[in-house]
Amino acid sequence: MTDSAFVTADEIRAAEERIRHSVRLTPVEPSASLSERLGGPVVLKLEHHQSSGSFKFRGASNAVACLSDEDRAKGVVGVSTGNHGRGLARACRQAGVDCTIVMSRLVPANKVEAIRGEGAKVVIHGKSQDEAQIEVDRRVAAGATMIPPFDHRDIIAGQGTIGLELLDQVSDLSTVLVQLSGGGLIAGIAAAIKASRPDARIVGISMERGAAMAASLDAGQPVEVEELPTLADSLGGGIGLANAHTFAMVRELVDEVILLTESQIAAAIRHCYWDERQIVEGSGSVGVGAILAGRIEPPASGTTVVLLSGGNIDMSLHHRIISGEDVDLSKEVA
Ligand SMILES: *Cc1c(COP(=O)(O)O)cnc(C)c1O
Repeated sequence: MTDSAFVTADEIRAAEERIRHSVRLTPVEPSASLSERLGGPVVLKLEHHQSSGSFKFRGASNAVACLSDEDRAKGVVGVSTGNHGRGLARACRQAGVDCTIVMSRLVPANKVEAIRGEGAKVVIHGKSQDEAQIEVDRRVAAGATMIPPFDHRDIIAGQGTIGLELLDQVSDLSTVLVQLSGGGLIAGIAAAIKASRPDARIVGISMERGAAMAASLDAGQPVEVEELPTLADSLGGGIGLANAHTFAMVRELVDEVILLTESQIAAAIRHCYWDERQIVEGSGSVGVGAILAGRIEPPASGTTVVLLSGGNIDMSLHHRIISGEDVDLSKEVA
């Protein structure tokens, strides 16, 4: 335990020790087409092949493993745009802990079904992640243990195990392109990598439509933004006005933040499929999108890592996008 807002590399190493037997070590593959685009070596970290379909399983597995016997017995409650709920449900099932997931109406039906399929109870509440949080608070007051999606030491430490893997897998790593929403993923990865490679560049990528962390960084404190339909639906939601860890860590450890348009995200999904042979959700592909959009400078030396963070996309939506349709979700979602 430490009083600091910052999760340390030691906590991340302890998380790796705890979860190494339940979490997949995901592969790294070179990308010839993205290396050519960037003008320097690019590798993809295939984290969308993680158990449960996204990296969220890492943080959830660590957080569940850290519960006291008393908390395990009372059961777990989570709020989620989908992938955290899915990862948490699977982590709880593996650990034999009762799990209820509360989510907002914006969450796509395929993700709701996936969470039920992992064995969790699902409760739909409100029209934003922040509203769903109110129902979670009520259940916590009644005794359940809440495991939040990003602003929690054990979650950040679990996500940070990706950074430890990258240090082993990419010996000349110089830049890492990481999705940025609540910031648990990028905070953990940056803490793990910068502890041994302080010069490594960590770039956060979000969508233009409702990027709460980017708006908060600009404002100098956590602020609320309107939650909007986006192809990067796993990057939606606020960072919490009482943010305890990720805002401070992102402000200190992330070198640059880039925002992408919806058509740039669609282009990234297409590229992942046709050029990399990977089925990646919009949120998972934004690092690819940043390179395709010419927003990333090639480093003077070393390898650029692009994290593919999740693959849980509705397959009919995926089909429309890879077939070239110009999908605008703001015209489809009420
Ligand atoms: C949750 C999620 C993110 C963002 O992670 P944060 O810790 O909230 O920044 C990125 N990609 C996918 C696929 C996710 O599910």
